[in-house]
Amino acid sequence: MAGDNMLVDVSRILKNPGAQEEFEFIFEEALDADEIKITGPVLVKGAVLNVGNLLEMTVHVKTRFKAQCYRCLDPVESELAFSFTENYCPAEEAGDDADEEQSSLCVGVFEDDELDVSLAVKENLLLNLPMRVLCTADCPGICPHCGANLKTEICRCKNEGVDPRLAILAQLKKKN
Ligand SMILES: [Zn+2]
Ligand SMILES: [Zn+2]
Repeated sequence: MAGDNMLVDVSRILKNPGAQEEFEFIFEEALDADEIKITGPVLVKGAVLNVGNLLEMTVHVKTRFKAQCYRCLDPVESELAFSFTENYCPAEEAGDDADEEQSSLCVGVFEDDELDVSLAVKENLLLNLPMRVLCTADCPGICPHCGANLKTEICRCKNEGVDPRLAILAQLKKKN
């Protein structure tokens, strides 16, 4: 099933504590958060479990993203996979007369026996995107003086007028 809305029909499990409804969606997310771009379809798989007074939803998400290496700015493409759990309450119970303890457990509400997974997936996608992406764990980055990409190029600025901290680094590099 593809599309913007990921609706899970929970009518079958609503009156049966312990019952669960499994779901699977694929959606194309045109999410473009600053320097990170989702490049693959987003695979969403999970289950909604009736735990008595609320519905507990467990979701596994898998996709691919493209970003720039934090140090050398080279493009990096990688897989992103994460899981999360959220609780949902029926809309009528999350109203004014609901007791506070109950509503604090509910992240989302649902109506008409349908639970929309898309918003939770989008929010959690943003939360799980890495803040800093590296092309390789030991990426040497770019020389701040000559701009050489030290992964593939040799620094052209030798030792002239170099910041003392960088001079130490240069010496360490010579030893290797
Ligand atoms: Zn890099
Ligand atoms: Zn340089």
